[in-house]
Amino acid sequence: MSAHRRPPIPYPDAPRGSCRWCGEPILHPKGERAGEPNRRRRWHPHCVDAFNASDPREARRRVRRRDRGICAACGTDTVALRRALRGRGERARRRSRGFKPRGSLWELDHIVPLVDGGSHDERNLQTLCTPCHTRKSAGEARERAQRRRGDAEDTLLARADEVLARSETLLASLRSPDPEPR
Ligand SMILES: [Zn+2]
Ligand SMILES: [Zn+2]
Repeated sequence: MSAHRRPPIPYPDAPRGSCRWCGEPILHPKGERAGEPNRRRRWHPHCVDAFNASDPREARRRVRRRDRGICAACGTDTVALRRALRGRGERARRRSRGFKPRGSLWELDHIVPLVDGGSHDERNLQTLCTPCHTRKSAGEARERAQRRRGDAEDTLLARADEVLARSETLLASLRSPDPEPR
């Protein structure tokens, strides 16, 4: 599944009074029916928020409103820069500053990457100008490769230990052979 598409609703066929997002009953909070399912509802209010937060396009809109295009790493105001770069020779000016020749000057960045278990939650999202985002992504890819290499080395060392232990057992048994029946 693409990281840029909204994930499906987990309980699309939940009966009225049950939440289509978490599947749990939606209870009357107070009044004489307190504790009974509220059949007029299909969503918990906080589950609506979770659903909206799960949509990367919605997340991008929210982060744009929150950060106003300011890069969290280098402080570049991408909105102002975009205005400044407009006009004749825009593509060349963008390229010379490390931006793509067209499109947005900023990327929605997951502070903890999705592959490392990061979420689409707003607290895990920040604005990065494209050069900073490219740098961060490259660094993360390097780290992942290092981790993979580290894991491979650990496996190799563990295997070497096993072989060593086995040969030591074998040696010990050769040195003190069981008396053989004649
Ligand atoms: Zn719910
Ligand atoms: Zn930046």
